[in-house]
Amino acid sequence: MSQSRFLLKNISKAPKSLILGLILVFVLGIFVIGYDQGHIFSIVQGDTAYGNLWMHEFTHDLRHAAGFPCH
Ligand SMILES: [Zn+2]
Repeated sequence: MSQSRFLLKNISKAPKSLILGLILVFVLGIFVIGYDQGHIFSIVQGDTAYGNLWMHEFTHDLRHAAGFPCH
């Protein structure tokens, strides 16, 4: 069996909930790395999170490396 046929056969057996979970993790990761401006921590900190930008500063170098606009 060729390698690509083997991979396609195994992917088709994956549960739909697993695929949905991976898509959600991917979308959340893209948001945190590329677009978060204090939104994540504002759930806990309120409006002060928009001034602190903890997650933005934590992922700042990765944001630039991935090509997302920043400043
Ligand atoms: Zn920057």
